[in-house]
Amino acid sequence: MTELLQIKAVTKRFGGLVAVNNVSFAVREREILSVIGPNGAGKSTLFKLISSFLNPTSGEVLFRGERISGLAPHIVARKGVVRTFQETTIFKGMTVRDNVIIAHHLRSNASLAGFYLGTNTARRDEDEFGRSADEIIDFLNLGAQRHEIASTLPHGHLRALGIAIGLATNPTVLLLDEPFAGMNHDETVRTVEMVRGVRKRGVTVLLVEHDMPAVMNISDRIVVLNFGVKIAEGTPKEIQENEKVIEAYLGA
Ligand code: ADP
Ligand code: MG
Repeated sequence: MTELLQIKAVTKRFGGLVAVNNVSFAVREREILSVIGPNGAGKSTLFKLISSFLNPTSGEVLFRGERISGLAPHIVARKGVVRTFQETTIFKGMTVRDNVIIAHHLRSNASLAGFYLGTNTARRDEDEFGRSADEIIDFLNLGAQRHEIASTLPHGHLRALGIAIGLATNPTVLLLDEPFAGMNHDETVRTVEMVRGVRKRGVTVLLVEHDMPAVMNISDRIVVLNFGVKIAEGTPKEIQENEKVIEAYLGA
């Protein structure tokens, strides 16, 4: 079992608040690992530390043994550690397909300028990226929306587009922060299947999620945070039976 990511004694302070407190764990290749915990537990902050959108106050994150903490987030994304793009980073005035095509450029040497200027190599890349984009779009059941302008999409489709954009960067590790939030039961079931499909493509998936049945169903392992501290780590079964976890959630 290869450890892809190592989170080593990571702490993040915001002024007097310790949002993430001395957290350590490892992420194995091709697993689905969920981070759970009450609101404000530090889950999103931890994801920003792993994707290098934030620098830890102390501690470090290693990817394939190499320190990635302190590197610019786009460099970390190029290495393959990608946090799903929030709706704000979707180009709202562009089609679904163009959004996904553009995301391919994140990890290629082709320049975005070339894409816009239509140079020969850029055109060749665009054909290839177009084929790959179409495949990802179909995979996420966005085929009917392919040529829709992003701003016209309903919430659920925008979420799927965010994941499509993440996949288009060809990630090694994909971090999904609350992918099921605001989804009804059917949408959640479909998205769970989609996340399983992402893993089948060889991608390691890190999830932050509130939907407990979905988390228990999809995760290989779970890390539990409470007030920034890791209070448990284990299989869904181990976590469900853990006294500290039950206490944190039930407030006993
Ligand atoms: P979660 O995702 O588990 O709900 P967060 O990681 O978003 O929790 O937040 C953890 C704690 O850190 C919260 O108390 C939150 O208010 C605080 N926090 C998060 N981001 C910032 C920030 N940029 N500046 C100050 N405090 C922050
Ligand atoms: Mg959060």
